[in-house]
Amino acid sequence: KSGARLYSRETSSVTFADVAGLEEAKQELTEIVEFLRNPKKFTRLGGKVPRGVLLVGPPGTGKTLLARAVAGEAGVPFYSISASQFIEMFVGVGASRVRDLFESAKKSAPSIIFIDELDAVGRARGTGLGGGNDEREQTLNQLLSELDGFDPHAEVVVMSATNRPDVLDTALLRPGRFDRQVVVDRPDWRAREQILRVHTRQVPLAEDVDLMVIARGTPGMCGADLESLVNEAALIAARENSPNVAMTHMERAKDRLLMGVERKLVLSE
Ligand code: ATP
Repeated sequence: KSGARLYSRETSSVTFADVAGLEEAKQELTEIVEFLRNPKKFTRLGGKVPRGVLLVGPPGTGKTLLARAVAGEAGVPFYSISASQFIEMFVGVGASRVRDLFESAKKSAPSIIFIDELDAVGRARGTGLGGGNDEREQTLNQLLSELDGFDPHAEVVVMSATNRPDVLDTALLRPGRFDRQVVVDRPDWRAREQILRVHTRQVPLAEDVDLMVIARGTPGMCGADLESLVNEAALIAARENSPNVAMTHMERAKDRLLMGVERKLVLSE
């Protein structure tokens, strides 16, 4: 055994209703949900089972959330790991971790494996300093062989996420591996409004709060930013002993966040 288990197994209670916007992505993933709910129905007729799905999009746009929602909708266990964790701690264990992860998921099938930051192990081979046989490449090779080694009836769907599809080893994208891509884009203002709506479900809002105005005034913000905005607004309101969150709190939270975003931009120049 390779020491500590690094992946996590959870029962997801997230549903598609928790994922705002991303209608097309949800639509495309519905098929996976149906397969996981009733795998026999598909395999019995010899249908080709979806195996690997790559979620592609910028950070904080809801890729992990979406994968959890697929597990939640299907009612199957969710095994997740960030690909950087495969290799960060000890040298020489990445490949065996991949093996462990797939083995556990197969035992609990139907199930979902989610690999975040796929590019951390999935960069094109031969581009590392290790010269073709380093830790990362061994881990990647193991991952490829696990994907190929599924028996055709295995009821495991492997989802992964990246914001750098351009650097991925093309071997990962071949048929039978991550051969489906689902785009998870930054939200437009309508989607931002829906995201704000989801994240204010449990927040007492004052009458004057107009989420559309906030949504229109936050171009470039992703779902994670908007979640922080709501949280920040609630903290500002609490500090003022306000009975609820009003438009002024939302606006100030927005300004504060936008300032942070600008500072980051300046520092990175
Ligand atoms: P990363 O690439 O950094 O892992 P990600 O795309 O996986 O980012 P998530 O971790 O899913 O992003 O998003 C972070 C949090 O932001 C989510 O837990 C959720 O609360 C919020 N969020 C992001 N996108 C959405 C969305 N479309 N609807 C509702 N909430 C969202």
